[in-house]
Amino acid sequence: MAEVPTVQAAGNGPDYQGHETINTSILHTYSEKVDFLETQEKKQANMELEVIGQTVKGRDMHLVKYMQNLDNPTILYITQQHGDEALTTEGSLEFIKQLGTGKTKGILDDVNILIIPMYNADGAMGDVNYELEDYAAKGDRHLTRLNANGVDFNRDHDAKTQPETQALHENVLQRYEIDYMMDLHHQGAQWIKDDKYVSGAIFPPHPDHTAPEVLEGSKQLGAVVYEAIEPKGWGHLANYAGKGSTFNNGISVYGLAHDYNISTLLFEIRGTQDNANDFEVLGQKSNRYLTKQAVIAMYSASRAIADGSIQEKDVSFWDDLPVQEERPY
Ligand SMILES: [Zn+2]
Repeated sequence: MAEVPTVQAAGNGPDYQGHETINTSILHTYSEKVDFLETQEKKQANMELEVIGQTVKGRDMHLVKYMQNLDNPTILYITQQHGDEALTTEGSLEFIKQLGTGKTKGILDDVNILIIPMYNADGAMGDVNYELEDYAAKGDRHLTRLNANGVDFNRDHDAKTQPETQALHENVLQRYEIDYMMDLHHQGAQWIKDDKYVSGAIFPPHPDHTAPEVLEGSKQLGAVVYEAIEPKGWGHLANYAGKGSTFNNGISVYGLAHDYNISTLLFEIRGTQDNANDFEVLGQKSNRYLTKQAVIAMYSASRAIADGSIQEKDVSFWDDLPVQEERPY
């Protein structure tokens, strides 16, 4: 049995309160997500909902599209590739709602936005062909990282063995001219920068396997997110991994930058919403901040692409951004 850390409220990040309540019932179910998207589509003239394929268990996979002008740059957001990383989806639904309000006025005139919320729907519903034992969260379902067949989508972008991976590549990545992509995840709760828990970590594609201008665009996307989040009282971002991380074409942040010349950013938000490993999960008291962090990341990136300011971003901060470290648990 792992010891619960005694450190309280360390860092600028959302407080770590030990393993207080985590209940999956407060998260959107798959069908609640679909209802939400269908309601928004009726309300929002600029929004279009497309089914890009079906999961292993037969759930429709949805792509949310805002495509006003094909000459505009396009950004793709993917949430919850890993089914236990759910606040990314909660954030994307809030962002979609915002896109239908005056708060984001004008943004859609100058940027095309594609969003795949809850990419791993079967994992998000715990509807999988294997047992989920010792999972931490309470609620009416467990959330799990892999898909129904036990495959990690984020190691399948090269081989593309799963219907979900095929749907993404054939019906989204190969069909649209995508300039930027943000892949939204959650990581374990135990990561620190400057001895304080991070609120998240960011990561560009591999420098040796990415075209220079694509890498520059990726780092600029990271700069936009960093500048939007780091000044927040709760914002505390680190570099996800060092430069030496092994290149694997199956990982989206590497493979998509490499295969499609898309400037990509991996954004790993702190703490998952369920897991069999206690140190991965974070109590739900932080949900509001972490969801807001996802919304800010999506909004600030879209805004900076729309107004062109992303192209002026200085990427030198990456050289000084500390790689996160693991606090012993
Ligand atoms: Zn993940």
